[in-house]
Amino acid sequence: MNGRYPAAVDVAVVGSGPAGAAWARTLHDLRPDLRIAVFEVGPVLSDPPGDHVKNIADPEARRRAQRASEGPEADLGAADPAATVDGRRGRAGTFLVGEGFAAGGTGLPVGAMSSNVGGMGAHWTCACPRPGGSERIGFVDDLDALLDEGERLLGVSAQALANAPLAGDVRRVLGSALDGDRPADRRVQPMPLAVRRDSNGGLHWSGPSVVFGDVLRTGVALLPETLVTRVRRSPSGAVQGVSVRDLRDDTVADVGARVVVAAADALRTPQLLFASGIRPTALGRYLNDQPQVLLAVRLADDLLAGVPVPAADDPTVVSRGSGVSWVPFDDDRHPFHGQVMQMDASPVPRPDLPADRPGAYVGLGWFTAKDVRPQDRVEFSETAVDGYGMPAPSVHHTLTALDEQRIAAAEEAITTAGRALGTVIDERPIRLPAGSSLHYQGTTRMGREDDGTSVCDVHGEVWDVPGLFVAGNGVIPTETACNPTLTAVALAVGGARHVAKTLATSTPDGKDTP
Ligand code: FAD
Repeated sequence: MNGRYPAAVDVAVVGSGPAGAAWARTLHDLRPDLRIAVFEVGPVLSDPPGDHVKNIADPEARRRAQRASEGPEADLGAADPAATVDGRRGRAGTFLVGEGFAAGGTGLPVGAMSSNVGGMGAHWTCACPRPGGSERIGFVDDLDALLDEGERLLGVSAQALANAPLAGDVRRVLGSALDGDRPADRRVQPMPLAVRRDSNGGLHWSGPSVVFGDVLRTGVALLPETLVTRVRRSPSGAVQGVSVRDLRDDTVADVGARVVVAAADALRTPQLLFASGIRPTALGRYLNDQPQVLLAVRLADDLLAGVPVPAADDPTVVSRGSGVSWVPFDDDRHPFHGQVMQMDASPVPRPDLPADRPGAYVGLGWFTAKDVRPQDRVEFSETAVDGYGMPAPSVHHTLTALDEQRIAAAEEAITTAGRALGTVIDERPIRLPAGSSLHYQGTTRMGREDDGTSVCDVHGEVWDVPGLFVAGNGVIPTETACNPTLTAVALAVGGARHVAKTLATSTPDGKDTP
């Protein structure tokens, strides 16, 4: 018997990224009577658990935290900028999908995951745009109220960096080139970011620690280095709990639960359901990665003229204070999601750019929505296993003719935006390999009804499996170009509110009150 685990809880959350954290926080706030445990396969990186690694000041310590997030097999960890896996390169804090990355079509050559308390949410860029137009999920009636709460939980602000050097000028120039007759909420504006200014003026980037708030201190149990191997069910099909493996000593245990929330990312949530014998037709299907193009631009001299060159001993002044500008998705005028940030602050480094004053270059990144299709999917093996011993994934993902058209249009749009800002450096926009978005969606998508094209209902409850909920980007059913985390957190809040309202109180003998 493994003493680390309770025999039973009311709600078992699998995964401690933003989606799992939002479930735990919302449920605990609304129903402090419920026993909630969060199971996470990765280690704790920080105190408080789930903090963003960018808040770790010491570069060596930050590097160690990133490495600790890179999964079970060192050779799949690619955070060393020089390291590649079969010519594929991952981002710091992530590890790549194994050899099944391209079982059909181009697959996701740089499809990646993070295994740590906080998940990818400890490594993300924190951009939190709201979906617009066709990106929105029409059948979620209270979507705006949920997005409001998502922004509150993530600590989103459009103002924290709005007045950064150059940011206002970049917005002004882009706005006059691109705004036209857009509605006010879809004009060029500061990117809403999950970041706040500390009392000393420094930046604190939101990881899931911010979403958890106090709940890990006030009652929610966090169980790191614990792989959930299976969702257990009764003969009638209702959820009974989870089976877990303690990675510290390789022992196994069963933990009872009345509700299980699988928030284990868009590749591993379907993996857990598959491993549990829960295999609705749509499971793993509708997988979509947003195609992305990049362009580097040297800002026009008249834009740079007003911004003093930082002192030589303060090379970080531009990156620390730089804003991110947002060119929102708009179905009619601009069906792309655009973000513009100072190269000095970019998560995609460009060592090839000529030396220049800090702030001289901006990087433009335009995402398009993928043509979402059931045949784009992640499948799992009955026999082969991944580095954790879970069913090995194989990815089928192909760009369609419509995708090619959308990408070509995005290349045109990004070039127009780049030319407005200054001198375009790249001969043509750079297409990133599939998987680069790190925004995989659709694999456990929600639907209005159980018609074989969805896995769960509007609350995230899996069709025909009472008590099993799914959460994270995988539940988003629409074609989106914008970054998905805010939406995933909002939908998690919706699911948790539903359970808070409907789950009966447990009596001390473990029975539900009528
Ligand atoms: P995750 O954060 O991936 O968390 C899932 C957790 O589940 C992981 O910790 C994993 O270890 C755990 N897990 C998986 N399987 C099991 C199991 N069987 N048992 C126990 N635990 C398990 N998104 C944006 O919206 N805006 C951005 O600007 C942005 N920038 C990004 C930049 C980078 C470099 C990266 C890496 C990601 C970025 N993203 C961004 C994506 C964002 O981080 C994800 O959308 C978000 O973290 C998803 O939240 P989640 O909780 O669904 O999944």
